[in-house]
Amino acid sequence: MGGTFDPIHYGHLLAAEETRYRFALSKVIFVPCGVPPHKKTYEVTPAEHRYSMTVLATASNHSFFVSRVEIDRPGPSYAVDTVKIFRQQFGEGSELFFITGLDAVLEILTWKSHDELIRLCRFIAVTRPGYDAQKLKEKLPPYYLNSIDLLVIPGIDISSTMIRERVRKGEPIRYLTPDTVCDYIFKHGLYK
Ligand code: ATP
Ligand code: MG
Repeated sequence: MGGTFDPIHYGHLLAAEETRYRFALSKVIFVPCGVPPHKKTYEVTPAEHRYSMTVLATASNHSFFVSRVEIDRPGPSYAVDTVKIFRQQFGEGSELFFITGLDAVLEILTWKSHDELIRLCRFIAVTRPGYDAQKLKEKLPPYYLNSIDLLVIPGIDISSTMIRERVRKGEPIRYLTPDTVCDYIFKHGLYK
């Protein structure tokens, strides 16, 4: 499961856990991006902070792991490169799934080498409040849809953007992300 994770929150964690259960995955690897490939409208927090928060949030789940591949790789983080590395690492016999939210998969045609990527692994697109699953059919060619499984999960209307905004305004973020992540954010003065 790739993301900026700036910061990680319960929406991410629920998406990962639901997918793990429904698809009987042996593990879920969270992959915080290094330099996001698409220009963001805000300054992304240094990768080490995003990595640490992702580790804190996932530590108690025996099936959750965090990978440094993208943050240790110089230059923009492209999913296609990461999937190739995992394919090599886990071998041809392994089954790889790319977990995304509906909003992210709807943008897949803007990703680097998306036609190659869609052949390298299956995608699991989890539902996300505010994004219409019908749009998948409208936006993506049938060839892509064959490689994407839609997974309906309980809607959690939380985004990292919302958490950053709340911290900036001095509003509470407790129960939007694990306490360990809240503490880390305040300790390091992030999102001020
Ligand atoms: P931002 O607001 O900064 O874009 P975000 O909350 O969208 O942050 P990302 O790191 O961009 O988080 O998302 C990583 C992945 O998790 C994406 O595939 C995204 O679609 C998915 N995701 C994020 N939040 C949710 C949520 N609440 N429900 C379902 N999927 C989510
Ligand atoms: Mg996002």
